[in-house]
Amino acid sequence: MRILVTGGAGFIGSAVIRHIINDTEYSVINVDKLTYAGNLENLKEVEKSPRYSFEKVDICDAENIKRIFRDYEPDVVMHLAAESHVDRSIDEPMEFINTNVIGTFNLLEQFRRYYESISVDKRRKLRFHHISTDEVYGDLPHPDDDPDALFSLFTEETSYSPSSPYSASKASSDHLVRAWGRTYGIPIVITNCSNNYGPFHFPEKLIPLIILNALEGKQLPVYGKGNQIRDWLHVEDHARALVKVAMEGRTGETYNIGGHNEKENLEVVSTICDILDELVPKNSSYKELIAHVEDRPGHDMRYAIDSTKIKSDLGWMPEETFESGIRKTVQWYLDNQEWCKRVQDGSYQKERLGSAHSG
Ligand code: NAD
Repeated sequence: MRILVTGGAGFIGSAVIRHIINDTEYSVINVDKLTYAGNLENLKEVEKSPRYSFEKVDICDAENIKRIFRDYEPDVVMHLAAESHVDRSIDEPMEFINTNVIGTFNLLEQFRRYYESISVDKRRKLRFHHISTDEVYGDLPHPDDDPDALFSLFTEETSYSPSSPYSASKASSDHLVRAWGRTYGIPIVITNCSNNYGPFHFPEKLIPLIILNALEGKQLPVYGKGNQIRDWLHVEDHARALVKVAMEGRTGETYNIGGHNEKENLEVVSTICDILDELVPKNSSYKELIAHVEDRPGHDMRYAIDSTKIKSDLGWMPEETFESGIRKTVQWYLDNQEWCKRVQDGSYQKERLGSAHSG
């Protein structure tokens, strides 16, 4: 089984590739443009495997994507490549439209041509798995405004109502994937997941930013009151769910993935401070560094996922609770200061491979 993973040098894509190489017999072709978010150092532990190959290619590049389908003849595509940071999408939306919408369109078109060119027997196994976010659903009522709010969750039937340029571009890509499945009959499956955290997370995102700022004695910025609720899932639980859906999910279906760990942002920041107070004590608590800053425009107040379907249909369960996962994550950042330093000073970008290579 050969799996083509797009965006495999990113946070979640690299966890998927580490899981595939370490825990399965499958081979991986990692197709990644290596934007600022792509870091081949996330894949150090698997890059020497004969089952791992890398292609530095933009998913918008039709000719090279066509060549990759022809040369590698993958059985499954797991499409993770995306621009993924909401704040960047507000400041510079163009790249989000290019990669998330046009790039997904291009990948679908090349996949469709590849699908039509192969034998009926090989087609039966083929699958295009599109990896998306719960942010496409917009936001849910917040318990501060409605005491019954905690009963409402995103299901696979929730209508789309994206709020940010990022979530609108991901919603567009979900619609394209479903349309290509229905119109051209290509075998698609979609997953929508809640917020991930864990090792190798780029430090522009809340959890690594807070850990690294705290260690450097810098401000811990919290948007507005910090009462926005996110449903946190450890990235390795997400990676296991994704491979399960890619292999066992029903064609044409959507699966929501979440950890049922609803936390206010301020609670997440306080928990990290408590763990650091214990592991790296100093004279005063890290909580003194918390600073409330102006809220993000259009900020969604609450996300929460109902993941009953993937649990009952495919038997997936998360292994980490938020308490165990966040402790391991803080410890990972403490143990991997060199990775952090190279990301923060940009040296991971200067020394990486400039051209395609196969492992
Ligand atoms: P990330 O930003 O860490 O990684 C994205 C990867 O895609 C990078 O390696 C980057 O180099 C690559 N990439 C970007 N543009 C590309 C292009 N044009 N061609 C080829 N490669 C390109 O993102 P992530 O957090 O790992 O998210 C991966 C996927 O999962 C995204 O589709 C995202 O929408 C989705 N998702 C993320 C979360 C989360 O909490 N991070 C939650 C749910 C869903």
